[in-house]
Parts: sequence; C-alpha cells; structure tokens
Amino acid sequence: MVTVCPECNTKLKIDESRSTDEPVKCKCPKCGAILLARKSNADDMVEKARRLAKTVMSDIALYNSNVVEDAIRNDTFFDILGDEIREGAKLYNSRVSPEVKAKGDYYREAIEEFLRKKREELGL
Ligand SMILES: [Zn+2]
Repeated sequence: MVTVCPECNTKLKIDESRSTDEPVKCKCPKCGAILLARKSNADDMVEKARRLAKTVMSDIALYNSNVVEDAIRNDTFFDILGDEIREGAKLYNSRVSPEVKAKGDYYREAIEEFLRKKREELGL
C-alpha cells in the first residue's frame, strides 16, 4: 500500500502486513511527520472512483445512445463523443483526489471496459 505524506507529499510504501482496518501510524522518512495510513480507507476511495467513472461513462452512453453503437462500429467513438468524454473527465477529476488518481486512471478503465462490452454485444 502506498500513501502520501501530507506535509511533504513524499510517497510512502507501507508494509501490507502491518495494515489492518485500524489506522497504521508511521513516520515519514523525509520530513519526520507522523501520519496515519488507513488501508481500508484508501481502498474505499479507489472503489468510489471506479464507481464514479462507471456512472459517468454510462451517463455518456445513455445521453448519446442514438450514436454510440454506430460510433463503435465505425471506430469513431472518440471522435464523435470527444466533447462528452472530456466533460466526463472534468467531472471525474474534480471529484477524485490526487492520491487516488496516482493509483490508476479509473476513468480510462471505465471507458475501455464499456467499449469492450459494447463490442461484444455488437459482435465486433
Ligand atoms: Zn513527509
């Protein structure tokens, strides 16, 4: 598990075996700040970001349902829905903390997952 020191923004690796649902107290090796790392909290935040990304993506698909399938068939999904995808990214970025963003691009994942499922549905 990785956490970020709130004092100096150094990324700290924390031994997984030490982490439980209880916060783990650790000392930043760079600035000496004492911080509390919560494994379950970090995991929750990732889960929330994933859910948000999926919701944003399914809203885009819903509001553009008349063009989505053709766009996927014609491989023009990112051209036709570029504005919507950028708007969605703004929303996603405004709600997800930098700490979670550092763990992965869950918005991109949600888009790719959506495209994969749609292609399967469409037999592509
Ligand atoms: Zn620090």
